[in-house]
Amino acid sequence: MRKPFICGNWKMYKTVAEAVAFVNAAKGLVAGAAGVEIGIGAPATALKALADAAKGTNIRVGGENCHWEKEGAFTGEISPGMLAEAGCSFVIIGHSERRQYFGETDGTVNKKIKAALANGLDVILCCGETLAEREAGKTSQVVDGHVKNGLAGLDAGQMAKIVIAYEPVWAIGTGRTAAPAQAQEVHAGIRKLLTDLFGREVAEGVRIQYGGSVKPENVKEIMSQPDVDGALVGGASLKPESFAQLVNYQG
Ligand code: PEP
Repeated sequence: MRKPFICGNWKMYKTVAEAVAFVNAAKGLVAGAAGVEIGIGAPATALKALADAAKGTNIRVGGENCHWEKEGAFTGEISPGMLAEAGCSFVIIGHSERRQYFGETDGTVNKKIKAALANGLDVILCCGETLAEREAGKTSQVVDGHVKNGLAGLDAGQMAKIVIAYEPVWAIGTGRTAAPAQAQEVHAGIRKLLTDLFGREVAEGVRIQYGGSVKPENVKEIMSQPDVDGALVGGASLKPESFAQLVNYQG
């Protein structure tokens, strides 16, 4: 049985003070969410304070990106070890905004994933097609490429630390959500690919989140799909009340 994982992705929102205030407001609202894993991906500056504020709660804290090297002359970058030291237990890698605006490729995604795992972090690997790719009938080709290339060289044992987030680019921040059946179709395709790569038992254990304009109003329907095991949420994760509604989607 896969434990659902609802995770916020704050992107470039929230100061240190705002992040701490969020956790203080949200922790009581999500404390009763048994059977759901809860996370927040936050800007680097807020991570340490956020992780300190979240200690003793059921909220995990993660980075939104990392470099693959341990340290070095990489101005502006942050290593996985630095994230772990700041209190992160996971990192989001390969988000479409990183791919689109910051030159992220499957090759860098793969190196980052290996470095994150080597530093004890869990990984949320993002994948997803653009509208043009969907309309050209290339959805499964693009998504499979992101997943297969991103996970190249990993062994079955490492897959216990990997979560996949399917995020159609056309649904991110647009208010346009994939229909639950559309999401399910892609999620099932990802699980089939994972079965081919790592075997059935491993594939059945990997959680596949959906991301793209998930809100309190649509989370339950999305989560009712058999291969949807969580959500990666941008906009609707920024307010404690709405974040708590997402986390408490079961009732
Ligand atoms: C995201 O940033 O991963 C995301 C899905 O954003 P939104 O929920 O705002 O569409």
